[in-house]
Amino acid sequence: MSYQVLARKWRPRTFGELVGQEHVVTALTNALTRGRLHHAYLLTGTRGVGKTTLARILAKSLNCEKGVTAAPCGECSACRDIDAGRFVDLLELDAASNTGIDNMREILDNARYAPTVGRYKVYLIDEVHMLSKGAFNSMLKTLEEPPEHVKFVLATTDPQKIPVTVLSRCLQLNLTPLPRAAIGERLAHILDAETIVFDAPALPLVAAAAKGSLRDALSLLDQAIAYGGGEVREPAVRAMLGVVDRDYLYGIVDALLADDGPALLAHADALAASGHAHGAALDELASLFHRMAIVQAVPGAPAGDDAERIAGYAALMSPESVQLAYQICVQGRSDLALAPDEATGFAMTLLRLLAFEPATVPTEAEPAGAAGAGREATPPVEGPSHAASVARPSPSPSIPRDGKDAPPDARLAVESSDTRLALPETAGEWPAFVAKLRLIGMAAQLGAQSELKSVRGNALTLAIPASHKHLADKAYADKLKAALEATTGRKLLLAFEIGDSSDTSLAAIERRERARAKAESEVAFRNEPFVRDLVAKFDATIRPETIEPVTRGAEAPPSTRTRQETP
Ligand SMILES: [Zn+2]
Repeated sequence: MSYQVLARKWRPRTFGELVGQEHVVTALTNALTRGRLHHAYLLTGTRGVGKTTLARILAKSLNCEKGVTAAPCGECSACRDIDAGRFVDLLELDAASNTGIDNMREILDNARYAPTVGRYKVYLIDEVHMLSKGAFNSMLKTLEEPPEHVKFVLATTDPQKIPVTVLSRCLQLNLTPLPRAAIGERLAHILDAETIVFDAPALPLVAAAAKGSLRDALSLLDQAIAYGGGEVREPAVRAMLGVVDRDYLYGIVDALLADDGPALLAHADALAASGHAHGAALDELASLFHRMAIVQAVPGAPAGDDAERIAGYAALMSPESVQLAYQICVQGRSDLALAPDEATGFAMTLLRLLAFEPATVPTEAEPAGAAGAGREATPPVEGPSHAASVARPSPSPSIPRDGKDAPPDARLAVESSDTRLALPETAGEWPAFVAKLRLIGMAAQLGAQSELKSVRGNALTLAIPASHKHLADKAYADKLKAALEATTGRKLLLAFEIGDSSDTSLAAIERRERARAKAESEVAFRNEPFVRDLVAKFDATIRPETIEPVTRGAEAPPSTRTRQETP
């Protein structure tokens, strides 16, 4: 059996199967069900959005042996012949190769005769804008008063080139490019049905490259399947489409955020070595900043499978910085042609990203540390007095206090400078360190739920369990950052990863501690003589969930309380 390309195999056969174009489908189904069909339709829209498909479904609707319907049966010989492209009363004409007046005359002469097998003769003229002026003119009369049994469906990618006299005789339906998400869903559906293994992140790449055309998306998918030896894998699709690896882009942003010039240049070299197009890399970098800007403007906006990562970056940069970075990438993209060579142009753009920061007017009202949105405008936290202005008094201080009678602010300042702590380097040291931070409220929660993933220079990456990702809000992150900077006396960059917990956070340790205390008190409770008697003599049952450890006084004997139940 010969291989049938996906675009043909999966051509929609009913209005319901059509992806997108709801407004056009609604207009046509309404016209069909009410029997008020126009005699000539002009379908406009870019290539591969479903113009021909729509025309064929319309032809079936008109000629289905079950009657004129918006839901053709697909089984009668008319439906099947149209699907197979061999229905004698559907005349498909490609205007690109039949531009002349003679072709048109022949067609129009033929239109006078009744349909051979069907109810209507349907003329589908594709790329109609390619017709010559004479051909258009010869069409006019027939278009104005076509025989009852004739319907025209004209399709074009370029309605501007169609004479007004023709336009005014047609009902124009504009087909829109398909959204990426809709294309992605359709691809996934088809791959599932074809039982072809695929990586989900590969599909948005194909959808983006198809630029709104489902037919192009399916051709690319065919290509990807062949390229991947029967599977659709993300790396293969990236290679096939020349899409730059996302990790590579993340590396660039990481280096920018860490103010790391050498790393940035290393990335530029690596790109040149990998053979990727520099223009494509700048496009994707710009698109990354675009997504950050969206997250900043509309928190919670859908942002793809790396949404958390984008949100983390968005929290580390000010909206002005993101805008500027986007602008620099776009400008750098158009400057590539003027650069001595592409690699130089690319490297210069990266360096420009590093060198320029938006001019900001410092606000007096906000404490400098809390305003620290990334690497701009925030002066490094250094002096103890400054540290005092951002550190917050802890509700349960675990740092020994020695400035007994000093006013609170002065004491805080003394402590901040005296109790400066080194930044932990391992995940194990992190919870104890967090416990010593002066944090309250949600920022304290954020600290407690966080796990230390990595420390690279001044850049800290913290992991937050997905169940607590709401804590990784910029406002709380800024407070945590300010406290970290005050405690360590270093200017830091904070990034968050949302994901699986490895139970090394302060909160996880406290949770384990509470569970252990509860288990101990349950054992102690069961062993109390009074409880044993109750159980033995009165057949009492203990409800362990009601046992609560009682906070112990200095010398008080261990005791627990609960409700007992006797049957
Ligand atoms: Zn039928």
